[in-house]
Amino acid sequence: MAEETIFSKIIRKEIPADVLYQDDLVTAFRDINPRAPVHILVVPNKLIPTTNDVKIEDELALGRMVTVAKKLAADEGIAEDGYRLIMNCNQHGGQEVYHIHMHLVGGRALGPMVVS
Ligand code: 5GP
Repeated sequence: MAEETIFSKIIRKEIPADVLYQDDLVTAFRDINPRAPVHILVVPNKLIPTTNDVKIEDELALGRMVTVAKKLAADEGIAEDGYRLIMNCNQHGGQEVYHIHMHLVGGRALGPMVVS
């Protein structure tokens, strides 16, 4: 059994967060430490620690994460200029919270994808 993170508490509304969207599969809320004018996290309600743990039955939730990110990008007014969707995995990916999440980042030119 994977260990819960702060994100499970946010999903259950046990601790405060700026929640922008929630349905039966996913929750989206603003990152507490935004790295760009728009920085939103889209997470599955189900605890999946890393993308290595994604199963076939999670495909609906993973797909929903993308359609919700697309909707929020439009809501935030960054769809036209563009944005980046990022999912970090494990140590080399820079993952800090072990409940998978998609970063929706935009509102300015983001520069190169990976710093070399
Ligand atoms: P990771 O590095 O795991 O891909 O990203 C984790 C993200 O979660 C970071 O951008 C961090 O700022 C954000 N984060 C960590 N704890 C909290 C929290 O309690 N509330 C919110 N809204 N974001 C958090």
